[in-house]
Order: sequence, then structure tokens, then C-alpha cells
Amino acid sequence: MTRKDILTPIEVLHRDELTSAQSALVDKAIDATRRSYAPYSRFHVGAAIMLDNGVTVTGSNQENAAFPSGTCAERSACFYAGAQYPEARFQSIAVAARDASGELVTQPIPPCGACRQSLLEYEKLAGHDVDLLLVGRNEIYHLPSVHSLLPLAFTSF
Ligand SMILES: [Zn+2]
Repeated sequence: MTRKDILTPIEVLHRDELTSAQSALVDKAIDATRRSYAPYSRFHVGAAIMLDNGVTVTGSNQENAAFPSGTCAERSACFYAGAQYPEARFQSIAVAARDASGELVTQPIPPCGACRQSLLEYEKLAGHDVDLLLVGRNEIYHLPSVHSLLPLAFTSF
């Protein structure tokens, strides 16, 4: 028997440690939380994706009374980017969330499994790692790639 351990490298950053480009992307993700439609969970998530054409696309969670019909912020952003700019490639992604009180969540918000899978497809299309910034009130997680969040991923059939 052999053993393989999977490690997820995470840089824990404070807001003042971000580059200006990272900080701008984080601001756009936070701003996108204000366009969330979350009357059921009252958990407002925003995502911002910087594309290699210079455009930043944002998305927010959009809920529905028929729960499975809604979608997360990350998928609303990445599918919008794919639909509007099919030739553009992802460079970096930021995700932020506010709770029912309206405050940014304390801990950085990670994408759900379905969003990890969806974002991974766009990272594969990009042909390079796509930076991830997961925003919390007190700290920001910086991950070097989507695949670092989804090891042993299903990427082809
Ligand atoms: Zn999700």
C-alpha cells in the first residue's frame, strides 16, 4: 500500500496585504453581494471574475421558491462570463458573503462543491491556474488555483 496526502495551500491575508488588482476584485465581489436575491437563506453571496480581456464579471446568488432552481454567485458569474465572453479566459476570482445582519461573514466563504466543479472547467479552459480570493471580515484566503480546492477532480470523459 502507498499513501497520498492532498494538501491545500492557503495564504491567509489581511486586506492591506492585497495588491491593488486583488483589492479591486474583492471590492467588486463585496459589491455584488448587494445584488443577491436571497429571501430564503438571507445569505448574500457575490463573486467577481477577472477575465484576460480586461473585463470583470460579477454574479450573485439568485434563489427561487423552488430551491433547486436557484444558483450560487460563483456559477451565476462564471456562466455569465462564458455566455458573454466565450473567448476570454479567467485570471482570478473573488468570493464574498454577507449574513442576514448585513455584515461580511467572519470567516472566508468557500465555494460549494458544484461551484468548484463549474469553476474548474473554466480554469481548464484557461490553461493555467486561476487565483482565488475567499473573503472574510477579518481575513482573506488566497488559493493558487481552483484545482487546489477540488483535488481528484472529474475533468474529462
Ligand atoms: Zn455554489
